[in-house]
Amino acid sequence: MGDVKLADIMQSGESGDVVVLGFPYDEGVARNGGRPGAHLGPEKFRAWLKRFGSLHNPEVETDLTSLKVSDAGDVPPGLSLEEAHTHLTGKVAVVLQAGGIPFVIGGGNDQSYPNARALIETRSGQQVGVINIDAHLDVRPLNSGQAHSGSPFRLLLEDSRFFADRFIEFAAQGSQCSREHANFVRQRNGRIVWLNEMQKMGPAASFDSALEELGSRCDALFVSFDLDSVAAAHAPGVSCPGVLGLSARDAMKIAETAGRHPVVFLFDLSEYNPLIEEERTGRLAAGLFYHFCLGVAARKEGRP
Ligand code: MN
Repeated sequence: MGDVKLADIMQSGESGDVVVLGFPYDEGVARNGGRPGAHLGPEKFRAWLKRFGSLHNPEVETDLTSLKVSDAGDVPPGLSLEEAHTHLTGKVAVVLQAGGIPFVIGGGNDQSYPNARALIETRSGQQVGVINIDAHLDVRPLNSGQAHSGSPFRLLLEDSRFFADRFIEFAAQGSQCSREHANFVRQRNGRIVWLNEMQKMGPAASFDSALEELGSRCDALFVSFDLDSVAAAHAPGVSCPGVLGLSARDAMKIAETAGRHPVVFLFDLSEYNPLIEEERTGRLAAGLFYHFCLGVAARKEGRP
């Protein structure tokens, strides 16, 4: 039994403490001028998850058997991107209504607005907050009226049901963002925590502080993680790798902190592109899911 993995206890279905949902679409990346391949993200993520993540972790003395982890499958392929987004919002809402925490694996970052929309609609009348962990701000205008992987947080900030002072851009890199887009976020009272600024306090402590502050004034939080926020040395398999970025260790810690927080009810992971690089980034993606689950298990057991 010593080598039992988290994936071994995963069940099919939409109910659970943590529920995996796949969004196998990269049309949004193509529309944003990026390289195709992220549509394979969910399939390869599941394959690497089978090979990583002890169910009983002797280092942190955590036994994940207390957690019900499920796999609700993918948004079916072959839809238009607009139909796929609608379908995704519906699937995320079903999991949320059943009391589960969706962990959505993309696919392009365009998935994040449909995901946020599901939380906003499920939590109608409540305060929803969003943290985007990303090298980019992703507040680009639509492309010929169409959503793409660079526009999800513009759509969020323009959604009248969302209050933009409950939005944080975390680990953004000024060398990869335009002044116009930074101003767009700031003019709406969103907050930007730049990568370099965050390095002073340390990424994990800085994320913890941002999450605590936002969590103190929200009923529900959505943590959105773009793998391109991680340095290319640790996450080469993304459409837009950056030389600078979070380390794999920072990323794992952030995922665990998010899982542990009492009002994080939604997490998504975007831009894993196995055509560019499969194994290193696939193991990282699986590791982020595992650490998120370690955090949720600690939350459930009421451990600090
Ligand atoms: Mn992004």
